[in-house]
Amino acid sequence: MTDDASRWLPSLEALRASGVPVHASAWWKPFGFDLLAQEPDSSERLAAVIVRARAHRRLVTHEEIEAAADDMPAEPRGVPTPIPWQAASQRVLLAALGPVHACTLCSMSPGKVPCTTCGGSGRIHLRGDRNSGDATRPCPACHQKGSVACGTCNGSGRAQPASSAIVDDRVDTLRYVFVPPLSLELEGRLRARLDALDPPASLVTELDARPPSGYRDVEAHDPTFYGFSYGDALGRARAAVRGVGGEGELVTALVEAWSWPFLRLRYDVLGPDREVAVFVDVAGQYQVVVARADDDA
Ligand SMILES: [Zn+2]
Ligand SMILES: [Zn+2]
Repeated sequence: MTDDASRWLPSLEALRASGVPVHASAWWKPFGFDLLAQEPDSSERLAAVIVRARAHRRLVTHEEIEAAADDMPAEPRGVPTPIPWQAASQRVLLAALGPVHACTLCSMSPGKVPCTTCGGSGRIHLRGDRNSGDATRPCPACHQKGSVACGTCNGSGRAQPASSAIVDDRVDTLRYVFVPPLSLELEGRLRARLDALDPPASLVTELDARPPSGYRDVEAHDPTFYGFSYGDALGRARAAVRGVGGEGELVTALVEAWSWPFLRLRYDVLGPDREVAVFVDVAGQYQVVVARADDDA
């Protein structure tokens, strides 16, 4: 954040000077009127947090299994090093845990297990056939044999206990605008407007993807951006960034975040009350979002 941030801080005076109207319509003035002609009933300085994040996480689940002797590594090995930003799900055999023995999965007929596609009959029933009475055709999975090679021992009938790991590398993204509590309508409209912007470097805000160590994530009571209150937006943004990619160890993360200050104005006028958000856009122009304040936030 630099001094340059000051040009993005909105004020009612500057909004009035800009000549941008805060347009609202009402039944008694069908062509609308400018809310700026009257004083707002309340004015709050708030800040939204725009987050664009990407994270690569790895979840490793260790398992003892039975595996084909010829799949076993010659030397015990460890879980492979992750390749940053490469998503993959793989099972890795780490080491043999005991001597080769008869495969327990296919002990009835070594190397073979019943075909699950045809249930071992070698033929499958045709569905949706007009005269489907007893029409069958050869099973494409086992070519009528009724059995397939055992996947545990690769059809050899011989297997070995082994340690293995399921290595799940996930790459996830998060793109979201977090705003302090507003009426639902205003929140939706403001988030859509802010999401479409290309935020400037002077509004960059640090968010850490790593959980804080040693202490609980206690935020300052009222964190602000140059006096514009984040409410719970900053805390929610931080929590969301830490959750990108779900469970597992963080391999690498790319987190970009920006603060965007805005004014929240409320006008009690005849008919529905109005809730207004005002912010300065990338071009330095005042932008106005008007909503009915029908649900209290
Ligand atoms: Zn079959
Ligand atoms: Zn087997």
